[in-house]
Order: sequence, then structure tokens, then C-alpha cells
Amino acid sequence: MERADIIIVGSGHGGAAAAIALRQRGFEGTVAIVTRESELPYERPPLSKEYLAGEKPFERILIRKPEFWEERDIAVLRGRAVATIDPQARRLTLSDESVMEYGRLIWSAGGDARRLDCPGSELSGIHAVRDRRDVDALKAELDSGLKRVVVIGGGYIGLEAAAVLTKLGCSVTVLENQSRVLARVAGEDLSRFFEAEHRANGVDLRLDTVVQEIAGKDGRVSGVVLAGGETIAADMVIVGIGIVPAVGPLLIAGASGANGVDVDEYCRTTLEDVYAIGDCAAHANGFADGQVIRLESVQNASDMATTAAKAIMGEEEPYAATPWFWSNQYDLKLQTVGLNHGHDEAVTRGDPASRSFSVVYLRGGKVVALDCVNAVKDYVQGRKLVEAGATVAPDKLADATVPLKELL
Ligand code: NAP
Repeated sequence: MERADIIIVGSGHGGAAAAIALRQRGFEGTVAIVTRESELPYERPPLSKEYLAGEKPFERILIRKPEFWEERDIAVLRGRAVATIDPQARRLTLSDESVMEYGRLIWSAGGDARRLDCPGSELSGIHAVRDRRDVDALKAELDSGLKRVVVIGGGYIGLEAAAVLTKLGCSVTVLENQSRVLARVAGEDLSRFFEAEHRANGVDLRLDTVVQEIAGKDGRVSGVVLAGGETIAADMVIVGIGIVPAVGPLLIAGASGANGVDVDEYCRTTLEDVYAIGDCAAHANGFADGQVIRLESVQNASDMATTAAKAIMGEEEPYAATPWFWSNQYDLKLQTVGLNHGHDEAVTRGDPASRSFSVVYLRGGKVVALDCVNAVKDYVQGRKLVEAGATVAPDKLADATVPLKELL
């Protein structure tokens, strides 16, 4: 039976960062990353951006060069998923029926792309954008000349993919079932701005739109049927409708959780010596007024990896990292800092028509988050307002001639 002092499940940003942090902090025991992937750890954000666009080859999105893992004595066990966990015996059963023993377990399995739940969802030509294989399959179809793309979901994945595919010359329709895009992450003014940008770039963007069925011909997608009966012809469908946290084996083993797995401020689950980090870890977040949330971001995965590594090394420090996100669409760089959960006021700073502006979110008079579009200075300086929980008058925030650092 194989054994490692620390087994990390998942090779995304969190899993890779956890292994790196352990070695950086002097952990000398055996470390293994178990992953379903057939690749060494690679970055996910470029999958819906530069990698999809063909601007970056795969080698350039590897998190570290291949020799790094060998040099640090980190085993990356590829092509294997964890099927079951026995927390008493500290054993994992893997998909190939092998058994591994762990001293400590760091669960960083992220989530699976949510799948469509309607007739026709099994047809070929329907793609997620979650891992390299998804994007390679999609690109291969684009290379064969397919041009009419329907994107289902107006979140980051859907909009970033729409922007790239438009640039590649596809005719793109985006279908969102909410009344605005990016509803889960951004305030309304920002949603409206991005909707206008996509439309100006030729995207047929439809809101409040319910997909009823995927139509097919000879086993392959031929269109998307909407609730009203209209069929939008499609050579290909991209589905970006969120993720389902990959925590099944942990919950079956008795860990507390529902939407993800519950962790404390040191990323410990309720199972002994089992930590969880990243997209799947439900935690009380100070930037969300202490609410228990999951954060689906590279920042959260990397910073939780440090928290778990520190706890394992006896340097406990509660997780309190400032949330940040980014998205690239066309020539727009959106940078977000903080969490706008429960905000009661949103102040626009600068003129959206100039395509460089910010939206500052306040809760009870305090600055809790900023969305900055092509406004790096606001992002950098606004971060300090968020971290300080600064109380600033809205009219001052709205005056783009005054740098945010002067309002601290
Ligand atoms: P997402 O952010 O959850 O957005 C999905 C959107 O699709 C939601 O608005 C959702 O509305 C809508 N939707 C759900 N079912 C639908 C349906 N049947 N028809 C039409 N619309 C539907 O998820 P995502 O864009 O797929 O992203 C997946 C993950 O990748 C997230 O963790 C995301 O944060 C991450 N990601 C991040 C970045 C970035 O940070 N720049 C970039 C790419 C991906 P409901 O709320 O009603 O379900």
C-alpha cells in the first residue's frame, strides 16, 4: 500500500500551492498530490482566456516547470480520483482500486462544472470550460470550422468565452436565465456595462432566458430550444452555469457540510487531520460579515493553502485574506476587491462611457468592495479602504479627481 505523510487531493491552484507552501515552510515528510488530471498542475484562468484564444500554449500555463515537482520530492499521481475515505484508518480508496494511507489529508478537489439538466444534454458538441481536456475538445471543433456558438450562462466563464470566440470570428449568442449577467458576483451597474460591451461586439445576449432543450441531428447539437419555442441554430454549445463542489467522499466519510465542506479558520474539517481549501471549502468570511460562504477564486485557493500549510507546521494563523478576482473580456480588465454581499449602496466613480471607471460598494456606510474596470489605481488604493473597513461619504468616493488613497 502506498503512503504519504500528507496527501493533497486535487492539482488546481489550491493543491499545487499547498504542496509548495509545505516545502517552503520546511516540511520534510512525504507529500503526494492525487489528481484526476493527466497533466501536471496548471493555471485555470487562462482556459477561458489566452489558452482558448490560442495565445498561450499549454507549457506556458503550467504552475511550475515539470522538474520543480521532482526536485521538491512532491509526487504528482495523475489519472486517479479518490472514491472513498476511511478517516479512522486514514485510508483512501482510489478510482483504480488502489489504497493509500495518509498522515494528514488536504482536500482541494474544487468543483465539477454543473451540467445541463434538459433533454438533449447528452449530444456531442456541448462543452464545459473547466479543465484542459474541455478546452482542447472545444478548440478542435473550432479548428474544423464550426462558427455558430451558443453560450449558456452569463457568468465569468460564459462571458470570457463569448469575448474570445467573437474575436475568433464566431457568431455568438449568450443565454442567461437571470435578469442580468454576472449577477452572482457584480452589482447591477457593472452588469449593464458588460452587457452593453458584449452587444457592441456583436454578441446576441439574451437575459431572462430559459433553455428548454438542446436540439440535435445525428447525435450532434444543431440548436438550442428556448422556453418560448424559438430555436437558435448552433454548431456548438458552451455551458458555463456554475460548479458543484466536489466533496462527495468527504461528506460520506462524515465531514460536516452541505454546499461544500465546512472548515474552521485554520481550514480544518470536522474529520481529524483532514483540511479542505479552495472552491469547495465553506468558511465564515470576515469580508462577508462573518457569513459562511464558498469563494471560487485563485486568491482564495492559494491563500487557504498557506493557512492549511501553516496550521500543519504548527504556525496557526486564522484565514483572513482579502478576496480579489479578475476577468478579462475584450480590452476590458475587471478587477474586484472585497465582497459586495449585502451592500446597501453602490457609488460609480468615473464615467462608464470612458471605459475606465469603478463601482464602490458600501454596507452600513463602510466600503466593502470595489469593481474596477480598466482602473488599476482605484483597485490598488481601494483595497486599503476595504481592508480598513473605511467609512467614506459617497460624494467623496464619486469624485474621480480625488485619489482613493486620500480618503483613507
Ligand atoms: P457562475 O459564476 O456561477 O455563473 C453561471 C451563470 O449561469 C449564473 O448567472 C447562473 O444563474 C446562470 N445559469 C445557471 N443555469 C443556467 C441555465 N440553465 N441557463 C442559463 N443560465 C444559467 O459560473 P461560471 O461562469 O460557470 O464559472 C464557473 C466557475 O469558474 C466559478 O467558480 C467562477 O468563479 C470560475 N471562474 C472565474 C473566473 C474569474 O474569476 N475571472 C473566470 C472563469 C471562471 P443562476 O444563478 O440562476 O444559477
